[in-house]
Amino acid sequence: MRPLVLDPLFRSIRTLTGVGPKHAKAFEKLLGGERVLDLLWHKPIDLIDRRHSPKLKEAKAGQIVTTTVTILQHQLPKRRGLPARIVASDDTATLDLVFFNAHRDWLEKTYPINAQVVISGRVEPYNNRLQMVHPDHAGKPEDIASIAKIEPVYPMTAGIGPKQMAKPIAEALKLLPDMPEWLDEPLVKTRNWPSWKKGMQVLHAPESAEDIDPAAPARQRLAYDELLARQIAMQMMRLRQKKLRGRSFAGDAALRTRFLKSLPFEMTNAQKMAIADIDADMADPTRMLRLLQGDVGSGKTVVAMAAMLNAVGAGAQAALMAPTEILARQHAETLGPMASALGLSVAVLTGRDKGKTRDAITTAIQNGTAQIIIGTHALFQEDVSFKDLGLVIIDEQHRFGVHQRLMLSDKGLAPDVLVMTATPIPRTLTLTLYGDMDVSRLLEKPPGRKPVDTRLVAVDRIGEVVAGLKRKVASGARAYWVCPLVEENEDLDLAAATERHADLQQHFGARVGLIHGRLKPTEKDKVMAAFAAGELDVLVATTVIEVGVNVPEATVMVIEHAERFGLAQLHQLRGRVGRGLDASACILLYTAPLSEMGKQRLSVMRDTEDGFLIAEKDLELRGAGEVLGTKQSGLPAFRMANVEAHSDLMLMAHTEAKLIAERDPMLNTRRGEAIRALLYLFEQDQAIQTIRSG
Ligand code: ADP
Ligand code: MG
Repeated sequence: MRPLVLDPLFRSIRTLTGVGPKHAKAFEKLLGGERVLDLLWHKPIDLIDRRHSPKLKEAKAGQIVTTTVTILQHQLPKRRGLPARIVASDDTATLDLVFFNAHRDWLEKTYPINAQVVISGRVEPYNNRLQMVHPDHAGKPEDIASIAKIEPVYPMTAGIGPKQMAKPIAEALKLLPDMPEWLDEPLVKTRNWPSWKKGMQVLHAPESAEDIDPAAPARQRLAYDELLARQIAMQMMRLRQKKLRGRSFAGDAALRTRFLKSLPFEMTNAQKMAIADIDADMADPTRMLRLLQGDVGSGKTVVAMAAMLNAVGAGAQAALMAPTEILARQHAETLGPMASALGLSVAVLTGRDKGKTRDAITTAIQNGTAQIIIGTHALFQEDVSFKDLGLVIIDEQHRFGVHQRLMLSDKGLAPDVLVMTATPIPRTLTLTLYGDMDVSRLLEKPPGRKPVDTRLVAVDRIGEVVAGLKRKVASGARAYWVCPLVEENEDLDLAAATERHADLQQHFGARVGLIHGRLKPTEKDKVMAAFAAGELDVLVATTVIEVGVNVPEATVMVIEHAERFGLAQLHQLRGRVGRGLDASACILLYTAPLSEMGKQRLSVMRDTEDGFLIAEKDLELRGAGEVLGTKQSGLPAFRMANVEAHSDLMLMAHTEAKLIAERDPMLNTRRGEAIRALLYLFEQDQAIQTIRSG
């Protein structure tokens, strides 16, 4: 149960004075939530210093000034659209207060003639007079202390201005409970961090530009709280997964030898090392939870096969799950022959299999005739049961959530889990995304891959590109032509791709095909097969081809509106060519003018093919928020932490969480109790359920 002291923070913001029904909706949209806590997580992005109170004669142009004036005169507009002007003065000079579209009643009430009023706002010279357009604040002389201070500036939305924000924030701050310290006391001391409560107060009451910097002690403290909560949650999940009865697969040396002999190549050192990691994990009686990270073409498939043989050699089954139908079939095509060469049976199950076919497959899975099972999320379905699932391999995991990962692994008696990803995630982000997993990386590529000649071409030169493509096709080349996702609107995307297809048909006739997400799986296969067989020279595609078709004869990749793609995605797409013996080319078509960042990003693509370098650059240019903020990351955004600015804290949190999980796995100590509250605060409390059920 959530500690009672936290209850006020989980109440609706509607319970705060100043948040009427009218504002509540706007608030909810702005905050992405409707609880007091959501409001408290809303960080100021800037500040305004209102402490400057000069005499009007001394006020400088452009300055924010807070001062007491006497109202002398109202000059109301004679026509609509003209501003109202209120003349005010102190004993040194006069000042015009200027209002557009203000109600007369309101003006007269707020600025009565002869009254003393405290105003705050920016002063500007205008026609040799000093003016202030729409003072930010107006109040009674006794209010000056509350106005003349440093004011935090929050990200706003329509309907919520600074005034609507200040009051509820102040109310919310009053609800902050005193919490026992969940951080390591010496750490808090050496870093000079405030308590959590104090940190929240400082967050909303910055006193200088340094205070809103991510490096400020309060910001660091709050960020660390969040990172630690996440890392502890991941460690708890990991503990549970490891605690479930694992099994030891010693591996079948003879089978392994036969497999290696059957390969037409020698494993790279990177592959050998990854396989050694996996062998060790699988031989260990605790469960394997390993991430195999390797760029497109780095040779993950044979590593997966070696892992599967460990399970199958011991009489268990191994399943490989791919995110799409095409990819699952592709895996089946590569792994099938390898398996049959070793006398092993392979079953493939995807959403397409229905009726009798499906029954036959699920029966084989259930009675163990199928030793290696390849499929899509169809493998999750309830009526699919395995005889003895010992290993689960998940390909391209960023498309699946952690939840799905658990679902498939629940199909076996705590099977070993290997996740393969081609997304080159920088080290710090690996921790965030996969903090609960061990990592093997294939940094070295198999020998013999040809570099891809990448060029940036403005779209108004598309005619030349088509002409060039015609020449290449005439000499036997095959090409992908990718049309981007626009606005995430599938219909529009499709329209664009269909149009391009029609356009290219004028040049390539019937030898240009079209593939997109709306096609039926069998139709997709047909088009893909025609392209692979060389019946089509050009394949126009929406991004459906992104995740891994293998047509070694394809040597040209044209990507339209390349500036709209993420770098990781461009890299994946480009990885579709350069797989065969011939030199390959990638043409990135962009629409001018490119932004400075757009230029830099596409230049990175042109200058390197190193997926990790590209990922690092992408992170540097766009920021982690952007990179991770995308849908496919599947990551809830951080509230307090900034993945770039706080990457050192991320490593620290990871190490500390591990230590906590080792020393106090049930969170029973005094500090453990405090940590439970932390987990509730950052909504990582499913980890607490995990401890209970474990
Ligand atoms: P990934 O799945 O990591 O993108 P694949 O496993 O599909 O990469 O491998 C890409 C290609 O490289 C395949 O054609 C595969 O047969 C080949 N390959 C894998 N390992 C080696 C190796 N050690 N030496 C040469 N070729 C290899
Ligand atoms: Mg692959």
